[in-house]
Amino acid sequence: MIPALQALLGPAHVLTQPEDIHPYSFDGTAALLQRPLAVVFPGTTPEVAALVKLARQHRVPIVTRGNGTGLSGGSVPVAGCLVVVTTRLNRILELDTKNLTLLTEAGVITQAIYETADAAGLFYPPDPGSMKVSTVGGNVAENSGGLRGLKYGVTRDYVMGLEVVLADGSVHWFGNKCVKDVAGYNLRDLFIGSEGTLGIVTRVLLKLLPKPAGRQTLQATFESVEAAAGAVSAIIAARIIPCTLEFLDQRTLACVEAYAKIGLPTDAQAMLLIETDGHPAAAEDEATRITELLVQRQARSVTRAATPEEGVRLATARRSAFSALARVRPTTILEDITVPRSELAAMVRHVNAVAAKYHLQVATFGHFGDGNLHPTFLTDERNAEEMHRVELALQEIVTFTLSLGGTVTGEHGVGLAKKAFLREQLGDSSLSLLRAVKRTLDPEGLLNPGKIFDAAS
Ligand SMILES: Cc1cc2nc3c(=O)[nH]c(=O)nc-3n(C[C@H](O)[C@H](O)[C@H](O)COP(=O)(O)OP(=O)(O)OC[C@H]3O[C@@H](n4cnc5c(N)ncnc54)[C@H](O)[C@@H]3O)c2cc1C
Repeated sequence: MIPALQALLGPAHVLTQPEDIHPYSFDGTAALLQRPLAVVFPGTTPEVAALVKLARQHRVPIVTRGNGTGLSGGSVPVAGCLVVVTTRLNRILELDTKNLTLLTEAGVITQAIYETADAAGLFYPPDPGSMKVSTVGGNVAENSGGLRGLKYGVTRDYVMGLEVVLADGSVHWFGNKCVKDVAGYNLRDLFIGSEGTLGIVTRVLLKLLPKPAGRQTLQATFESVEAAAGAVSAIIAARIIPCTLEFLDQRTLACVEAYAKIGLPTDAQAMLLIETDGHPAAAEDEATRITELLVQRQARSVTRAATPEEGVRLATARRSAFSALARVRPTTILEDITVPRSELAAMVRHVNAVAAKYHLQVATFGHFGDGNLHPTFLTDERNAEEMHRVELALQEIVTFTLSLGGTVTGEHGVGLAKKAFLREQLGDSSLSLLRAVKRTLDPEGLLNPGKIFDAAS
């Protein structure tokens, strides 16, 4: 099969040597590594279709990969597979300012989509923390969220159309530029969040918004997580939906300060980063009302950025949380639990209690406004005994999350990391429906097998 792939794509776009394929043997998830058979870089949709047909002929599994920033093991190879990297599908094909849409190939970096829209006075809201590296295809496959999810939603809310190569090599287009369309089942949405298990996304038609003219940034610190959670509830109850409503706990604050040296109060138990946007008067009015609520809810300090530059500086604390935590110990395991917002304080308390019970270092930050927390285990995968304690702690956290009506993943996907918990969340009958969809679209189980659920039932 390798010579046929080389003839199809050109030898430079087929990697087979161990030292060349090693960087494609893992993604952003800790402790997962598997060497593939080969790594290929198609440059067009017809090349993707042809290589899928070739792989099918040889019964070789395919793992699609954007830029490998995934945090659930989705693009970690399976044994003997072909890794299909989308980064040569890197063209933005059309910016339609009449319909406010953007047509792009799947390997384009998320930040480039944002910047292209921004240059035209438009706005692409989904902003995963990885947006300078992640691809839009990866964002679609994981239905990624970001810091603006509370007001603007997640990737799914901006996908109007998709070009997808199916497991038999056929190419399909789902969706269009129409604001409304109820013709038939919505197959487009089936592929969003499907983690490369149902098809390879090659093009994406995105919805854009007018760029908000105003933005206000606030940072508040608290003596307790409960007080921070109470402030979040008060803001929402006051019918204010900020663009961003992010949380950092004390350990995260201390790590960020040690890393970024931006003058954070490291003795505060919790910090909220809040942004409002929209018409300048509305953004300002909301920021003023939020400030009043924060003071009423016993915030220890409230800082409001006087300039856009200061706003960026205040947001740095949240944006650098993952990098700051990743420096502390050799292995960083980032969880992605999500609970109804009313349960946030209970959830953070539980995470801290479990960390103490198992003598583990856990720092928690996340999208408080979405109920989405990232308890982050600072550990060492070389220490089997410590990893065992991490596993026990994770199981307890997941069980508690589900007991609160939560989910094991709010935005990072199931992949390999969460599949052991999927049955516990969905139950047998829903899980078998998921399997039936997979069997229909990929009867031979060639696309990203073993992700989300085991390859064979
Ligand atoms: C520092 C950091 C911060 C992050 N912050 C966030 C965040 O705020 N919000 C969030 O949601 N996630 C976040 N993530 C997780 C990750 O960046 C996202 O899941 C992202 O969408 C993955 O994009 P990628 O191009 O790297 O995809 P990959 O990691 O390469 O792939 C992810 C999954 O998508 C599939 N896939 C990729 N491309 C395609 C395609 N074209 N067609 C079909 N399937 C495909 C893969 O098979 C795999 O299952 C973060 C990760 C890091 C490292």
